[in-house]
Amino acid sequence: MKKIIFDSPQCAKIRECEAPSCKADEVLLRMERIGVCGTDIQVFMGRNRYMRFPVTPFHEGVARVAETGSGVDHVKAGDRVTIRPIINCGRCYACERGHENACEDFNCLGVQSDGLGAELFSIDKRFVYPIAEECSPDEAVLIEPFAVGVHAAVRGKAEGRRVLVAGAGTIGNFTAQACMLLGAESVCICDLSEDKVEMAKRSGISVCLNSSGRTLTEVAQEAFGTFPDVIIDCVGAKAVLPQILELAGKTTDIVIVGNYSEPVLIDVATIQRNELNVYGNITYTEKDFLKAAELITAGKVYTQGFISARFSFDQAQEMMDFAVANRGVNMKVVMDFG
Ligand SMILES: [Zn+2]
Ligand SMILES: [Zn+2]
Repeated sequence: MKKIIFDSPQCAKIRECEAPSCKADEVLLRMERIGVCGTDIQVFMGRNRYMRFPVTPFHEGVARVAETGSGVDHVKAGDRVTIRPIINCGRCYACERGHENACEDFNCLGVQSDGLGAELFSIDKRFVYPIAEECSPDEAVLIEPFAVGVHAAVRGKAEGRRVLVAGAGTIGNFTAQACMLLGAESVCICDLSEDKVEMAKRSGISVCLNSSGRTLTEVAQEAFGTFPDVIIDCVGAKAVLPQILELAGKTTDIVIVGNYSEPVLIDVATIQRNELNVYGNITYTEKDFLKAAELITAGKVYTQGFISARFSFDQAQEMMDFAVANRGVNMKVVMDFG
């Protein structure tokens, strides 16, 4: 079988290698679709702080079961499945308390260990979930990124509250949709890119605003006439966090979803004086993942037009070059294994 290997910055190779075996309690998968996300772009560029070359990339995937090991009874050969790619230890402080996404031995496929960019992939049964046949691979591949949105909405306690989501890329859009589906009173999303604002409007998000040339405080004023109850940062850029603290009212909940790659200078007194609650946010728990699978397969999530480009397995290099070149405007690039 063949697998994709990133072995130096911006270099994707395809190598012939031995097919993985399928041991007890494991499922052997034949990959159908993978999605490319910001993390994969970071890995491709060699800029992710948790990775090491060479690595087989990708963590968002849909597959058919090729074979099951003994002790596997929730799926059988031929089933369409999705993969929860955060491999946790199950024994550490965080895992024992239901925060498996904050596992001390955090291992995301395609970053800390080899990922789904292979024709065949073998994995422990705990991370494999059957998907209804009616759910297409193009929809099912969005379950993983949607789970990030579900977790952010849960962290921000969005239900019944006014939520501002900064950043309308795939994760921002999905976070805003998740907040609405989980019962937020109103949701405003903003971005500097008009394309992403338009996409947010098509997705049915209550208030979609272009934030170029103005502050988040001005955006929130237009949306709510005041400050929001919850602010979810899906940008992760140096200029954003100080603006969020500036905008926050008393006791606002702030959830940090965007990946900050460098330290940011903030006025901590703003957090202290206003009793702000700043929450970290990393991926999702299994519960969030199952909720995302339920909402996507039930057709409750707007997914049309999210896939902006499609490549085949042998086009790994072209696909990654495209994803890098179009990261500002692009929603989701996928690989179709054919
Ligand atoms: Zn992802
Ligand atoms: Zn753990």
